[in-house]
Order: sequence, then structure tokens, then C-alpha cells
Amino acid sequence: MRRRVLIVSILLVLSVLVVQRLTAPNSPPRVSIDSRYLCAALAAYIPAEELTCADCTYAAVDKSHRLPASYVPPVMPVLLTGGGSLVPEAAIALTDLFAEARQRKLAPRITSAYRSYEDQARTFAAWFRQELSRTHNLDRAFDNASRYSALPGFSEHQLGTAVDLNCDGCAPFDREDSRNIALWKFLEDEGYRFGFAISYPRNVEALTGYQYEPWHIRYVGKEYAAALFAQNYLDGNGVCLSAFLRAQAHP
Ligand SMILES: [Zn+2]
Repeated sequence: MRRRVLIVSILLVLSVLVVQRLTAPNSPPRVSIDSRYLCAALAAYIPAEELTCADCTYAAVDKSHRLPASYVPPVMPVLLTGGGSLVPEAAIALTDLFAEARQRKLAPRITSAYRSYEDQARTFAAWFRQELSRTHNLDRAFDNASRYSALPGFSEHQLGTAVDLNCDGCAPFDREDSRNIALWKFLEDEGYRFGFAISYPRNVEALTGYQYEPWHIRYVGKEYAAALFAQNYLDGNGVCLSAFLRAQAHP
């Protein structure tokens, strides 16, 4: 009898939790996965396509689609902790996101915002030279450097809509610091309300070629961000931003 009472109480608690989850405020309705949004596997040894968009704000930039050296978005300085430059719509949205984060006692800091093609080229060349002096082998030096540094044109940071956020006072990208973890959880839970998506979610490393980067957010507008969020992509179900954006461009 006591066992039955225990089981019934557990079921009751569970059903209350389920109802609470279903009626959580401010959450867009979760919808079933659209297969067009599933991240395509990286095609090895196929040269990347160069994008031709005049305004690439909503273009998919990934390991197989790169921005040309001539792509320079109209960025402006961002007056937030950490600084840097972004296109105006992303700067405005990020200002709102910072205000909400500060209300929640989180202290965000911009670690990296717009990076020009030349910046990317300089950074890659520096890492490549370092690897070459260590390995004395061109191929090996190139492969090693490519693992942690993007080739020029392949970074979403060239769009002027992507930022890396860490806690002010935290070591950047420190996955062990609870203050970073709390900030990144806020980005996952609330970022879409300000128009931001997490470009490299869990579980798609093998497909995107990028590790899980909870600190890297990209402005895509509230409508796209909410539609992507509703796909549960942050749960690591294989849906990713670049496939989603490509589907929007070619319905
Ligand atoms: Zn980044």
C-alpha cells in the first residue's frame, strides 16, 4: 500500500513538472524538426564556394562557404564592455541583451567582434609560421594551424554580426568557470529573444567542423532566431544555423 502511495506521488510530481514545462512563459512553441535544417556532413576535399552576396548578413558561412576578401560590412564601434565593432542592427540587439544580462547579475564582456579578412589572414599566417618552425613540414604546419585557426574568409566574425562573449573577469573560453557557464546558459535560454543564435551547438562538431562554442553568438534577427530555437537545436539534435539559413535563402 505504501509503495502504491509512493508511486502515485512520484507520478503526480512528474505530471506537475511536465505541465510547468509545457506552460513555461515566453517560450516559443516547440515544433517538430524540419529535415532541411539538419546540418549537412562536411564534404572532404571539395574546395569551398566563395559567396557572392552583396549583403551577407543572413548568408550561411561555414567550412564550405567562404566570404570574399572584398566583403567589408558597414560596422560601427560598440559601446559595451570589451568593445569592438559590429553592424548597427547587431550592435543595438547586443546592447539590449547586455542590459538583460546585467539585470540578472551576469557581467558579459565582448572578447571578439568584427574581424576583417586581413585580420584573419594575419592571425592564420602567424600560427602557420609558428607550426612551421616547430614541424619544418608545410603540410603538417598547415593542418595543425587549421585545427584551431580559421582560414581567411571562413569566419562568421567577418560578417560583423558575430561576437564571442565571456564573463568580465573570467579567462576567455574557460569552460570550468561557473560565471562563464551561467552567462552562456543565459545566451542559450534567452539569446533568441534578442535575435541571436548559437552558431556551433552541441553534437554537430563532426558536421560543422567546429567544436561546441557556447560563447559564439550571431545576430540573425528575432524571427529567424525564434524559429531556429523552436527546432530544439540547442539540445544537439543535428539542426544547425547554416543549414537553416540556406533553407531560408532557397525555400
Ligand atoms: Zn567566435
